Amino acid sequence: MLIPCLACGSRFRPDDYFRACHDYNRGRDLVSWTCPACGNRDDLRVLPGELGFGYPARGRYAVNRTIAVPGMRRQRHDLRLEISLDKRTWRVLSR
Ligand SMILES: [Zn+2]
Repeated sequence: MLIPCLACGSRFRPDDYFRACHDYNRGRDLVSWTCPACGNRDDLRVLPGELGFGYPARGRYAVNRTIAVPGMRRQRHDLRLEISLDKRTWRVLSR
């Protein structure tokens, strides 16, 4: 499957998409993602089976759009988030 950039519409293989994730914010449970094609930076929440996009609202993050990534799993650690899909794992480190 391919995962799109919501800003420019470019589509990425999971490996390219998740390697562009950075700066896991454990308190807000968000990772930052900078599009390799257009440079747009977005925050997103990795959820079981989907990516959640939204906006800050009253001190929390309100997800209002999701992209399904079937089979994706997540595991939170103190200093990193691990994203797993198809027997591969990507680590997003805390800042
Ligand atoms: Zn883009």
